[in-house]
Amino acid sequence: GQWKNITRSSTTFKKDEDYDFDLLVVGAGSGGIASARRAASYGARVGVIEMGRLGGTCVNVGCVPKKIMYNAATISETLHEMHHYGFSGYESGAIKFDWAYIKRTRDAYIDRLNGIYDRNIAGSGVTRLIGKASLTTSEQSDNGVDVMVTPMENVNSTQKQQRYRAQHIILATGGYPTIPAGSDGSVERYAISSDGFFELDKLPRKAVVVGAGYIAVELAGVLVALGSDTSLVVRKERALRNFDDLLSSTLDDQMEHHGINIYRNTKGVSQIIPDETTGFKTVVLNDGQIIEDVDVVIMAAGRSPAVESLNLEEVGVRQKEGGYVDVDEYSQTSVQNLYAVGDVCGNVELTPMAIAAGRRLADRLFGPPEFKNAKVSYENVPTVVFSHPPIGTIGLTETEAVAKYGEENVKVYRSVFSNLYYGTWQVDASEKPKTAMKLVCAGSNELVVGLHVIGMGADEMLQGFGVAIKMGATKTDFDSTVAIHPTAAEEFVTMF
Ligand code: FAD
Ligand code: NDP
Repeated sequence: GQWKNITRSSTTFKKDEDYDFDLLVVGAGSGGIASARRAASYGARVGVIEMGRLGGTCVNVGCVPKKIMYNAATISETLHEMHHYGFSGYESGAIKFDWAYIKRTRDAYIDRLNGIYDRNIAGSGVTRLIGKASLTTSEQSDNGVDVMVTPMENVNSTQKQQRYRAQHIILATGGYPTIPAGSDGSVERYAISSDGFFELDKLPRKAVVVGAGYIAVELAGVLVALGSDTSLVVRKERALRNFDDLLSSTLDDQMEHHGINIYRNTKGVSQIIPDETTGFKTVVLNDGQIIEDVDVVIMAAGRSPAVESLNLEEVGVRQKEGGYVDVDEYSQTSVQNLYAVGDVCGNVELTPMAIAAGRRLADRLFGPPEFKNAKVSYENVPTVVFSHPPIGTIGLTETEAVAKYGEENVKVYRSVFSNLYYGTWQVDASEKPKTAMKLVCAGSNELVVGLHVIGMGADEMLQGFGVAIKMGATKTDFDSTVAIHPTAAEEFVTMF
């Protein structure tokens, strides 16, 4: 909804010398850097405050290192499958995997990215401030809020804090992993999060991943493919419950097929008990089940917004359940000239979403007049889960479409098949991994309102279909598109 007493910022801005900056951005992650650089491109005086490494979650402990590990896992799978194509050598033990090597080169790549971000920020004319930011009330600023920056060596002291005054402030502080409490504090003490996963210096022999979202299935997929004895602990029946049923059920089958031990309906983890001599851990689940001799327990059961240090209550920034900053469709918070983008708002927690929201906001605040109502759309956002096999999904699930349009107005097209890649394999058909696809159509013109795919190549398949769906493609449009043969994607334009 819209806030009361908000004056929308004009598209022109004055270089008011009473202000240190036209725009001050808190957080140099995906959303923060994107908004800062876009605003600077319009000539705004912009500062960005970062307390950690440039690039935020995505670059340092998210998308980037995850995708590198996903690639490593995919290579491992291919090596295991190569005999189906006449290659040999795996059985002889000649092929080795060196976790320390990929960690070292991955870390070096991230260092390079940190440097590129640094140069890009400087090159855009954005001032980088190093330190931890918090908000404070101000007599002088129009919005009644200033930003205090505590240098990092002094985070716990108020001595050397600097006060900055900006006409506009964007909060882009992202989030951090939450570790749900067990029964006695041992889960918090002995489990690691996805951040800890990226610090591991060797492949765990036996790993337990707890959670049922993107991160849990992605990390479990990587671990099992690289050779860990991997268990996945879900609270309910299966992972990715909120995705279309065809996706979650196919992934569930595939994960079991790959050898992941899935503990279902567990209600979560109660305790982690380390063995004093071996260091191995016993994981006790809330339903009484026990997993023994575990090296590493990874909690991937959700994230929380990084708001604690910001002092939001004092300056009157309204928050939603879970602490997320409440923003309207223009990224406006309940305080004038104070905005928030990205994970800290808890809308769609994806890097391109944070970037898009940040850029649209900078366009609206500092861009030409035609952008004065610029805003981002949270509808039909394509997303990929880098599970094994990967998932691509956009729009409504079948269940959501039926709830929205009524069963009689929804038509669903489905296809489940084995990719031609598996065609020559000398195994029973049931052993061949499946690709599953679904088109969810609504209304008499069969508008495509949902498109879902799981299987080899799904990750690279979705982007183009995303454009089609954004443009309002109907089933007839899909049917009139000539197929590309032989691919798996062609199935989407030949369904009947
Ligand atoms: P962030 O990128 O988290 O940046 C926030 C920045 O603010 C941080 O650098 C932080 O240090 C800084 N900060 C916080 N508080 C303060 C303060 N008080 N003062 C100064 N600085 C502060 N998304 C995808 O689209 N694709 C993926 O494949 C993908 N994989 C992921 C894998 C994992 C394991 C995780 C955890 C996330 C993944 N995501 C992925 C999600 C993606 O990383 C986030 O949606 C994205 O990083 C959000 O950007 P942001 O700008 O909101 O916040
Ligand atoms: P999610 O919110 O996606 O999933 C967490 C899930 O864990 C919950 O849905 C819940 O599922 C389960 N859970 C919650 N509490 C507990 C508990 N106490 N014990 C066991 N399980 C629990 O969070 P993630 O941390 O996986 O990821 C955060 C976000 O980051 C994602 O939503 C996504 O937006 C983004 N991301 C994107 C990626 C990509 O684009 N490929 C990759 C990684 C992250 P249930 O209710 O079924 O138990």
